[in-house]
Amino acid sequence: MTAQGPLLSRSGYDRAAHRRPDSDWLAQAWTKARVLVLSPGSATPVEPGAGGRAQLALRDASSVDEGVPRRFLGIVDEVPYFTATVERDGEDWRTLRDLGSTIDDLTAGLLTSAIALEQWHQRHTHCPLCGVPTVETNSGWTRACPEDGSEHYPRTDPAVIMLIHDGADLALLGRGVQWGAGRFSTLAGFVEPGESLEAAVAREVFEEVGVEVRDIRYVASQPWPFPASLMLGFSARLDGDPTIALDPVEMAEADWFTRAEVQRAADWVDSGTDPDPDVRIQGVSPKLSISRYLIDLWLAGALPD
Ligand SMILES: [Zn+2]
Repeated sequence: MTAQGPLLSRSGYDRAAHRRPDSDWLAQAWTKARVLVLSPGSATPVEPGAGGRAQLALRDASSVDEGVPRRFLGIVDEVPYFTATVERDGEDWRTLRDLGSTIDDLTAGLLTSAIALEQWHQRHTHCPLCGVPTVETNSGWTRACPEDGSEHYPRTDPAVIMLIHDGADLALLGRGVQWGAGRFSTLAGFVEPGESLEAAVAREVFEEVGVEVRDIRYVASQPWPFPASLMLGFSARLDGDPTIALDPVEMAEADWFTRAEVQRAADWVDSGTDPDPDVRIQGVSPKLSISRYLIDLWLAGALPD
């Protein structure tokens, strides 16, 4: 389960980036393309696939209107894959969050890239230098300003996410103010300009729960296109006093939990069973998230020292 890496990071399909500026090649590729269509709200049609997992209901290029921007995603088994944003119609449309861990690796990879691109285009319509509307170039992978010629690239915003442990049987999990009662997660936060990843881990932990950490170790990363994050997963060990001092703006509560407590909460989430309402931790992050990937590694005793 955990050996394959975080769910949204598993598909290494060929992005064939050198084809993006090649309009002749792209026009030819479009005639035989499979198209991942997205709604403006980033839902996509799905259908049942192998092993009961959902897979993309891809469309022929001929079904996509002429004027819709075509964004080249890459090549899979010699077939070119594009994405295009269209109005939602009558099929079974789902968001990435709806689909959760029920999708296959290729679906996860293509959908994550398509959503990240679409979210960027929606939020970056004008030139940051002179303010005029920009146009899509390089098959959706850049935007260019017609006024000053500047070129703009999709944003990826780094965020650190960390499993804090005591080196024995306790992990520190928190409940953000937007989370429901009983649901706990790893701590996380955006990296600030001029800051290293390790410094961001230590700063965010101290800000949110008031403890200091050492042995900060990189574990894995996962794109998180809501709208533009790259989650960089770490583990870190408590350094000194375990007493929690909560930041009430971001955190509703936080505590140290045993593996048995966290495993029981994870089992309730995975099986859809009602949790024991009298325990403090009744659920953890869903399988789609790298938070859960870090928690599962810790449960298995597989985090770096
Ligand atoms: Zn401009």
